Amino acid sequence: MIIARTPEALHDALGKDGTLVLVPTMGNLHAGHLSLIRKGLEVGDRVVASIFVNPTQFGPGEDFERYPRTLDADVSMLADAGCHAVFAPDVDVLYPFGAEHTVSIHVPEVTDILCGSIRPGHFDGVATVVAKLFLAVAPDVAVFGRKDYQQLVLIRRLVRDLGFPIDIVAGDIVREADGLAMSSRNAYLEAADRAAAPAIYRALAAVREAVERQATLEEAIASGHRTLAVAGLTAEYIELRRAGDLGPAGEDDAQLVALIAAQVGAARLIDNVRILRQER
Ligand code: AMP
Repeated sequence: MIIARTPEALHDALGKDGTLVLVPTMGNLHAGHLSLIRKGLEVGDRVVASIFVNPTQFGPGEDFERYPRTLDADVSMLADAGCHAVFAPDVDVLYPFGAEHTVSIHVPEVTDILCGSIRPGHFDGVATVVAKLFLAVAPDVAVFGRKDYQQLVLIRRLVRDLGFPIDIVAGDIVREADGLAMSSRNAYLEAADRAAAPAIYRALAAVREAVERQATLEEAIASGHRTLAVAGLTAEYIELRRAGDLGPAGEDDAQLVALIAAQVGAARLIDNVRILRQER
């Protein structure tokens, strides 16, 4: 497997043949990331995983410094999964003028809602680094997880608006046996928090179940809050949105997504489920 620190080294080693797939990550890989690598191998000829903890998507006081960095373990997991190359640039490769002086991309409508309203600047950092990774790697396809649903919608919009010639492919959420969505941040959970955390998925299931039995959106969200409360958790938000563009869900929209963010001990966790509402 190729390990490259610069775009030049990556392209020298890769050559130009076949469909190139990029799977962007921040490392500390788990089975959720590896499912995206497998998806990449299905849709393309060669898969590049990028590993980059992007400073511009972390706000002041967030976990940029303590975010787990496990490059050696990540590289061996990627090699075992059949990944062809790892692109692991230093900060100054992607931000040659310094991260605080970067040109920044703002994607309207989907940036300031949901997690964006709680983490100002986060999605500008995401849009900017993903654009930089797209330019550096020049993939034909890029794979993103539905785990970060708002990020996925934002990237589809970025690609469409700036005309990146890249197909965006989405991978399903990989969960632990008890329903907790896999996340690098689950490592921050103490035992009691880890025991409470699966209530996030149960709350999403409660929202879905309520929508499916034709409850109003308000009632559905209230049942999610009640499920969290039983586990001693409080949501930063529980929202039902249109699945396509995260616009406000109306009572007549069929394709919905329920999204939750909750602080659980030291970890801020997010999760979502898509819901297809039957005609009434
Ligand atoms: P991260 O390393 O957390 O930035 O995530 C890198 C990519 O992996 C993103 O596209 C995430 O949506 C995706 N991802 C993270 N966790 C999961 C999961 N549990 N299942 C599927 N994809 C995931």
